[in-house]
Amino acid sequence: MRCPFCGAADSKVVDSRDSETGEAVRRRRECLNCTKRFTTYERVDAPVLYVVKKDGRREEFNRQKLLGGLLVASKKRDIAPARLEMMVDEIENELRHQNQLEVPSRLVGEMAMERLRELDEIAYIRFASVYRSFKDAQDMRATLEDVLQHPPTRVGTRSRRRTRDDGDRLPLDLET
Ligand SMILES: [Zn+2]
Repeated sequence: MRCPFCGAADSKVVDSRDSETGEAVRRRRECLNCTKRFTTYERVDAPVLYVVKKDGRREEFNRQKLLGGLLVASKKRDIAPARLEMMVDEIENELRHQNQLEVPSRLVGEMAMERLRELDEIAYIRFASVYRSFKDAQDMRATLEDVLQHPPTRVGTRSRRRTRDDGDRLPLDLET
């Protein structure tokens, strides 16, 4: 890391802290040659995640695109944009934890719908209508009826998804 003032190669770190979003580490450095101070940022170089579409084409996972779709579906509904951004974060994290460089677009859509459905029925229907591209009214009706029959479980009542670890530790007799 060359000093931006004198070009010397050696510096020492005088302060190090996480950035506000926690996605980068901010380091304050002091040049060992001219003693001037400068700042560097270190962030994770996440590998590109590809989404494979139905027709086999690949495109980079695009947070903004997913968020855009969610925002459109949630228009005039009582959903904070920050909640949707959080949703995109969750989805991206979950996808990345699968340790695959490619994921089917179907999976991304299903993950978004699953979450949206718990949040707001109208936004869910809107998103599903675009995502599933309903062929006709009959097709849409099936989705509507499904929502009516299985209303979203309100926040707080949703049972926490059990992780694989819990399952392994859970004695069998507790599951009955
Ligand atoms: Zn210097």
